[in-house]
Amino acid sequence: MALGEFDLITRYFAQLTPAGADVVLGIGDDCALLQPATGELLAVSIDTLVEGRHFAVDADAAALGHKALAVGLSDLAAMGARPAWFTLALTLPRADADWLAGFASGLGALARRHGICLVGGDTTRGPLAVSIQVHGFVPPGEALRRDGARPGDLVYVTGTLGAAGLALLVRQGLYASSEHLPELFTRLDRPEARIEAGRQSRGLVSAAIDISDGLAADLGHVCAASGVGATLYLDQLPCSPGVREYVIDTGDSQLPLSAGDDYELCLCVPGDRQAEFERVAADWPHGATWVGTIDVGGGIKVIGTDGQGVAVGAAGFDHFAAP
Ligand code: ADP
Ligand code: MG
Repeated sequence: MALGEFDLITRYFAQLTPAGADVVLGIGDDCALLQPATGELLAVSIDTLVEGRHFAVDADAAALGHKALAVGLSDLAAMGARPAWFTLALTLPRADADWLAGFASGLGALARRHGICLVGGDTTRGPLAVSIQVHGFVPPGEALRRDGARPGDLVYVTGTLGAAGLALLVRQGLYASSEHLPELFTRLDRPEARIEAGRQSRGLVSAAIDISDGLAADLGHVCAASGVGATLYLDQLPCSPGVREYVIDTGDSQLPLSAGDDYELCLCVPGDRQAEFERVAADWPHGATWVGTIDVGGGIKVIGTDGQGVAVGAAGFDHFAAP
């Protein structure tokens, strides 16, 4: 049975998430009507995932639904914002019921878990691409920005680094990992935004960013925005067992520094907030690890296990970089 545009919206998206009192009018009219939280700032971000560029042609639909929202939630996490609403622009080559059911299930499960409501979108035919715009709220003056890092601040990261990048190497046939495959693929295909860590970091950190392009590149953005430099210690970078095994196997110790798609948070903590930050972070299931220090001057210095400086390779992904 052919599925029309409006059947498709009604069947898969109209009831995807429960609407709270702040959704005066949801999917179905020309615009959604939303009641912003009084006295708070609206945090907005949009991300697009394109087939063949951000995900493989045969990517699992449910995982894609999850990831398309997770990357937006990660931006809200990095600002310390509370998720509220999102819109979905879906470009599909065909209306395939199985694919749509899978996509909606992955998307809906993550959205309901974070209490973020789908309030509208757009559906068009074309090469597969998914854009999600997320909206969240944060009290004025409390957002975690990139431009507040100061020399002497301590640099922390949540969770572990490099697993998503390693999973991509495995999927591309460039590395054969044994027992750690399921965990690696979960990190790549179903990243978890650190929403609670972001919110609990309000008032404790001077600057924050989510790690989507690799720690070195993303901390580089913080340094540029703040007018500071940073020193990172390679042997402090938190790695999962699969990544540790890869580093030992191949001698490529830079993967946790430069691989993208982890969606952990990088948090800069002033010295006088460190004890309280560590107390708060001790309750996070993924934890937070000290990895370096903010200093004067620009750029990122990396210190290897031998205490010597290390040249940093591939500094993050740039869609428009010269080949
Ligand atoms: P219009 O032509 O007025 O832009 P559309 O026909 O694009 O409206 O969409 C009809 C309704 O369905 C709107 O409320 C829109 O927000 C919603 N909608 C369309 N596509 C999606 C989607 N993929 N997910 C969620 N809501 C959608
Ligand atoms: Mg429209």
